[in-house]
Amino acid sequence: MKMHENTKIGVIGAGVGGLALAIRLVCQNQKVEIFEKNAFPGGKLSSIEKDGFRFDAGPSLFTLPTLVDELFELAEKNPREYFNYQRLPEICKYFWEDGTKLSTLESAQETAKAIASTLGEDEKSTLKFLLGLKKKYNIISDLFLGSSLHKIGTWTSKKALMGYLNIPRLGLFSKMHQYHTTVFKNPKTVQLFDRYATYNGSNPYQTPATLSIIPHLEYNIGAFFPEGGMIAITNALYQLALDLGVIFHFNTGVERILIYESTAVGLSTSKGDFHFDAIASNSDIRPSYLQLLPDVEAPKKLLNQEKSSSGIIFYWGMNKIFDELGVHNIFFSDNYQSEFEAIFKQKSLSEDPTVYIHISSKLEKKDAPENSENWFVLINAPANEGQNWDELVLLTKERVLDKVSRILGYSIREHLIAEDILDPIKIEQRTSSSGGALYGNASNNQFAAFLRHPNYRPAIKNLYWVGGSVHPGGGIPLCLSSAKIAADLYQKNAYFRKK
Ligand SMILES: Cc1cc2nc3c(=O)[nH]c(=O)nc-3n(C[C@H](O)[C@H](O)[C@H](O)COP(=O)(O)OP(=O)(O)OC[C@H]3O[C@@H](n4cnc5c(N)ncnc54)[C@H](O)[C@@H]3O)c2cc1C
Repeated sequence: MKMHENTKIGVIGAGVGGLALAIRLVCQNQKVEIFEKNAFPGGKLSSIEKDGFRFDAGPSLFTLPTLVDELFELAEKNPREYFNYQRLPEICKYFWEDGTKLSTLESAQETAKAIASTLGEDEKSTLKFLLGLKKKYNIISDLFLGSSLHKIGTWTSKKALMGYLNIPRLGLFSKMHQYHTTVFKNPKTVQLFDRYATYNGSNPYQTPATLSIIPHLEYNIGAFFPEGGMIAITNALYQLALDLGVIFHFNTGVERILIYESTAVGLSTSKGDFHFDAIASNSDIRPSYLQLLPDVEAPKKLLNQEKSSSGIIFYWGMNKIFDELGVHNIFFSDNYQSEFEAIFKQKSLSEDPTVYIHISSKLEKKDAPENSENWFVLINAPANEGQNWDELVLLTKERVLDKVSRILGYSIREHLIAEDILDPIKIEQRTSSSGGALYGNASNNQFAAFLRHPNYRPAIKNLYWVGGSVHPGGGIPLCLSSAKIAADLYQKNAYFRKK
């Protein structure tokens, strides 16, 4: 096979983690080439068009936008020349079967007030809970999210010491749901805060209370909406990478990572072999080991760990404006515990699933024809283990149409005029994520954060790891953090190589 000329770093995958890492490495004066099996960048953060409607395919909630801005600033570019975003005044509309409705709002004060008046919680203690999340978040973020957990320096730093002192307060040894029942008296408030476990695809009845810090991002920093929809994040990062000289090979699947004497030296792709000084994989760890590194001993325990949830997503074009809905909407299950048991124990779907509806056309009018809306409807589902998805999708569609119609008080069926569907199998086909899991491994035990794959393993030299299946985890902010950690490790390793 033809050998292409020697370049510096080859990145497998143009997901948000791969794009961010490429940008960071170019800012370290490295040459970078990205190999992407799809014809488009973004991976899960991509877009779907159907019958005049545009839908963001995956993520819909944008938090910590400064992590994206940081990449432009690092490259000495003005992020506002690439993309813009606004803070949402209303974060989410919540609906329950008994007619209860609640909107959470951009400030912790307003949200505490709404929760007190609708759900009967004490306003002062709710506000104290929301504001108190900041301190816990900062400790965890310093210790877990910003550095490699696989370097001794991380564990002996001053920040780590602070973390150890605060361990009893971080909730590592209690469950999220159990903790919320000690803070709130109304089961609906508990359910509202338990829902944040799904932000990394976990089960609130099993995940440690540490994850209760997630709402801090929304109520103390903000939920944001990019101009042009979530796809604007991918487009902006792709454009920045192009402007910095990153070379993209689309429609080019990587088939093997070439290893010589325990060192990554190149990539074998559908379009030939390429030699590199270092490689980074933005592909899920499972296919990376099993398909791209068949001769390397894989960390089996890690690869076989429980996966995060996946989802069934209906992309529905609706020929009506639904005034009672906002940008983000939740129609809660009447039995949340049995919904999570169905997903994580029975590996199936609940008869009464929680329905999430995101409508970007509320703000981005061109995403839907006039007097219409683009509904992104997500139902949490188990990762694929061979379930009959065609049957589950049909069943779920009926349940969702019935549930939303029941709660809104009128039938929505006749307004559905366009449809596309993703299920765990299709998510896996589109992004190579194992079982179609949305966030890599689940965090359903207190050690999950410590058990994610590192961003670099000395056992395979010059091979770096980035994206939602490795440290620190899934979701756009954590994938961006993984790129920062991997780039820092590359820089340190390069420094020691030179010495
Ligand atoms: C339906 C859904 C809803 C979500 N909601 C949110 C949300 O609201 N907020 C949030 O922050 N996060 C959300 N997430 C999670 C978020 O999308 C992911 O954590 C993040 O986008 C993953 O990025 P990544 O860098 O791991 O790469 P991925 O997006 O997984 O992309 C990996 C890329 O690598 C390519 N690739 C893999 N193997 C190869 C190979 N061998 N050769 C060439 N290319 C290869 C793939 O084609 C793909 O493009 C959601 C995800 C989904 C699917």
